[in-house]
Amino acid sequence: MEKLMFPMRTINITQGVNGQYSHQGTYAIDIAGKDTGIDDVYAPCTMICRYKDVPANGNACFFESTEKVQFADGTIDYATMMFIHCNDVSHLHLGQIIKQGEVFYREGTAGQATGNHCHIEVAKGQYTKLYIKNAQGRFMLPQSVHPASAFFIDGCTVKNGDGYVWKKTTDKITNWISCGDAKWQYRKDGKLIKNDMIWDSEYGAWYAFDKDGYMIRSALFQYQGKFVWLEESGKMLKNGELKLKADNSGYLNKA
Ligand SMILES: [Zn+2]
Repeated sequence: MEKLMFPMRTINITQGVNGQYSHQGTYAIDIAGKDTGIDDVYAPCTMICRYKDVPANGNACFFESTEKVQFADGTIDYATMMFIHCNDVSHLHLGQIIKQGEVFYREGTAGQATGNHCHIEVAKGQYTKLYIKNAQGRFMLPQSVHPASAFFIDGCTVKNGDGYVWKKTTDKITNWISCGDAKWQYRKDGKLIKNDMIWDSEYGAWYAFDKDGYMIRSALFQYQGKFVWLEESGKMLKNGELKLKADNSGYLNKA
């Protein structure tokens, strides 16, 4: 299975996620590359061209991975991507298949752009439609996600990563999300676990999460009709083990 790779060799973000120039409420990033000319854009995975917009709209091109790929956050799904501002896209046509790593696009100034750059958005799932207009009035790719949770950056030079935590394929993939204040959430296949239990292979234990997705500690949780006890660490007490109440009046995990 292909891993989704960052589409440019130099990561130089000139406007980031939710940027106040034109990215309000979006997961878009503008990449200026080396900024010494027009940098190439490489296919993050093997993908098919789904749409080509007009020059007035920056020659925006939409692509969908031909197979499911692995995202940097561990999700396995199809990827849909949008690239904007290439000055000439006459070499691209609908249905065209581009192999992972091939140069298929370049920075440019087509549409609303000052200075050569490439506007990139990435979404989980197959191509559905073009843009949606968000609450801030910005057009964006549906189901888009943060690029740092999507692309691996092996082989890239990070000139300005905008403070995001970028992952390499050699980094450990974890499902745990630190929420600060000793609170943890858990994401599996792109979904937050809520009011449910999961087996976590990283720590080799069962964990439970409340309706807001926070890990439950030192408390009972009703799961498939049975009560289980979650330790202070969040780990479920092993099957069959009983947790005695402090006053010895009974068991916490035996309702
Ligand atoms: Zn942009």
